Amino acid sequence: MAMRMAGAAARSASHRISFSTGHLPSMRASSSPLSRQITMDAQSLAARLKTSGLLRSQGLIGGKWVDAYDGKTVKVHNPATGEVITEVPCMGSRETKDAISSANDAFQSWSKVTAAERSRHLRKWYDLLISHKEELGQLITLEQGKPLKEAIGEVGYGASFIEFFSEEAKRVYGDIIPAPLADRRLFVLKQPVGVVGAITPWNFPLAMITRKVGPALACGCTVVIKPSELTPLTALAAAELSLQAGIPPGAVNVVMGKASDIGDSLLESSQVRKITFTGSTAVGKKLMAGAAATVKKLSLELGGNAPCIVFDDADVDVAVKGTLAAKFRNSGQTCVCANRVIVQEGIYERFATAFSKAVQNLQVGDGFSEGITQGPLINEAALHKVESFVEDAISKGAKILLGGRRHSLGRTFYEPTVMGDVKSDMLISREEVFGPVAPLLRFRTEEEAIHMANDTNAGLAAYIFTSNVQRTWRVTEALEYGLVGVNEGIVSTEVAPFGGVKQSGLGREGSKYGIDEYLELKYVCLGNMEH
Ligand code: NAP
Repeated sequence: MAMRMAGAAARSASHRISFSTGHLPSMRASSSPLSRQITMDAQSLAARLKTSGLLRSQGLIGGKWVDAYDGKTVKVHNPATGEVITEVPCMGSRETKDAISSANDAFQSWSKVTAAERSRHLRKWYDLLISHKEELGQLITLEQGKPLKEAIGEVGYGASFIEFFSEEAKRVYGDIIPAPLADRRLFVLKQPVGVVGAITPWNFPLAMITRKVGPALACGCTVVIKPSELTPLTALAAAELSLQAGIPPGAVNVVMGKASDIGDSLLESSQVRKITFTGSTAVGKKLMAGAAATVKKLSLELGGNAPCIVFDDADVDVAVKGTLAAKFRNSGQTCVCANRVIVQEGIYERFATAFSKAVQNLQVGDGFSEGITQGPLINEAALHKVESFVEDAISKGAKILLGGRRHSLGRTFYEPTVMGDVKSDMLISREEVFGPVAPLLRFRTEEEAIHMANDTNAGLAAYIFTSNVQRTWRVTEALEYGLVGVNEGIVSTEVAPFGGVKQSGLGREGSKYGIDEYLELKYVCLGNMEH
């Protein structure tokens, strides 16, 4: 009942806080009635989520909800309003060591449970995630800022990994190898790697966790999760539901707080046999270096610099729709967001006009408001990064076609922006902008487009828009990327392998390939079969 009320409260709150782009009172003025209204609604929503048991504000170690041992806390903010939602423990190495120890104890039994039983527990967890879709979506919007509809979409996407790997749990087949000698028998067993440290970012507070924890638990591993300190609440709610699903205490642990202390403890421990990380390339490199000391398995999902190539022969409507989706999801804060829109000269003007018109229709505001498609950026640092990239591009000759400044809503809201005449040497082309800015670059030939697209250390997602089948194959094969969308801006799904090449990462998540990252192969040679 309480949970249903939380859903109803958010729905009615979203009707009350009705924003429309362009004619808004400033949210900087904290005394404005509108900002007071938002604050009250968010607080009452948090209170309702607490009553429902899903707003947890302690870490989870060995099945027990615990504070930091020194009592320190860190505040979790709503990026749309700046208000504090709650405080969570600021944990460090002592708590992480205990979490590892709990995970190691739980591994001894969880790894021996039958695959069928692990599958049932995961399926139950999936069912609980889905039945709490709305509350989890509200939590995501509260702490991360993305529009509620998109947040609920993330819950469906995140839960799909638990469902998929509940099924895959039953399919971890080994092999029998024909022996070269008559009296031998050769087998390959697949066994869980052991305790896994899972470090995740703030931009997908649920999905980046389930994409790791689903396959890990499915094959018998146990996990210590370290969510971003910016968005720990969704992780804690998901962990609460894992307990309700009967996943044994200690199989899922959550610690948060001092990132480098927690990271170092995970790296140093010989009980942790794998680190799986999603986040920036810089932190990924540190973890890779740190994992060398104990020679751990490593999966890295790092930053991208996605090219979105629009050829002269593209259908303009399809290209605009696809580029819009690839660029502006989560206000441009995803690793697969189109970072460079590379447009062939024959279609450039038509595309730029149609695309700018579509971008102009995007509604910016608090994610709980009706019709909003663009929430705030996660924090001031993110906003400064966007501003500095735009300034750099303008100073080097780029033109603002739309937007190009902070939104009148204030805080970390930024106007959906389109820039023309962008060049490959500008900062905005070299690095992830991670914000709602679409830079348009011009090209002449297919070879030039491929060269421009591959001229980066990143290699996660790429998009092409063309109606030529031969070109589709040629360009797709030439792109140095882990994922390619053809006439499509949204490509992620639990059934397909997700991951990058070059400095975008190591390993793949999701799909039948994703579970291999959590398995060791053991070769067994049975001798003396004729005695
Ligand atoms: P980030 O700064 O690298 O943080 C990611 C996680 O690492 C957070 O939990 C962070 O903790 C933690 N962390 C930071 N320093 C650490 C250290 N020294 N040791 C251990 N952990 C540490 O990245 P972000 O800003 O949250 O996320 C954005 C980046 O993630 C972008 O580059 C994006 O492209 C990438 N990303 C990649 C994928 C993919 O699948 N390839 C998906 C999503 C995002 P705190 O937050 O608590 O500091």
